[in-house]
Amino acid sequence: MAKKERNIIEVAEKEEGGKKIGVDSKGKLVEVKETPREGAVPRRIAAVCLWLVGIFMEVIGILRLKDVINWLPSMSETTFLIVCLVIDCIVVIIGSLLWKKANHIDPASEKNKTKFWIQNNLGTIISVIAFLPIIILVLTDKDMDKKNKTIVSVIAVILMLIAGVSSYDFNPISQEQLDRAQKEVLASKHYDTNDAGEAIVYWAEHSKKYHVDKDCPALKNSENVYFGTVKAAYEKHLTEPCRRCIHELEEDTAGDK
Ligand SMILES: [Zn+2]
Repeated sequence: MAKKERNIIEVAEKEEGGKKIGVDSKGKLVEVKETPREGAVPRRIAAVCLWLVGIFMEVIGILRLKDVINWLPSMSETTFLIVCLVIDCIVVIIGSLLWKKANHIDPASEKNKTKFWIQNNLGTIISVIAFLPIIILVLTDKDMDKKNKTIVSVIAVILMLIAGVSSYDFNPISQEQLDRAQKEVLASKHYDTNDAGEAIVYWAEHSKKYHVDKDCPALKNSENVYFGTVKAAYEKHLTEPCRRCIHELEEDTAGDK
């Protein structure tokens, strides 16, 4: 079989003039469809705002349950609570996705174990805060009948689980892990560099691994090969170095030449 022509596309860290441009293997400029890297801070702010909206929806639900407010009186209490909880769930999940993305752009340091744990699990903690109080209050409410209590509490528990699992980062990364990955690439010595002189890695679409060698056998059959700094790869959740072309960094000899 003839070797497929591959496109080599840069995934740069900065956006220029709205469109991202990369260079393919023939030196031709091509537009990169990848979303450009944006700061972690705006994502964190948006995440916190969405989480607050989620908690606000929970509070609205509690106030209606406790007959403090009577918004949308045409809607039954049960329906009103379910609507609040569904909105709560949706905004908490969107907030958590933004938060997780921010953690991959700007990872926490492992040095402070508590801060590292909280930063990586904040979405899941918020999911509990956004549902558990209302679940307890529904279950202990004296005015609500048993059937509606069961309906609302079961739905709330399911939504809490959906939000909690979606918010959980199954692949958290640390600043140290990123530093180590960058050192590992530099130690492999046969890396390529971008225009800024930074070491770059290559990866295929839908892959978890990155490579230093664009001719690595593992990339041979990919139509599009992307490249960028290790940091850019990490932001795309590519955290696994290819062991065929990147050799494991030995802690003891790191830094020796
Ligand atoms: Zn490789």
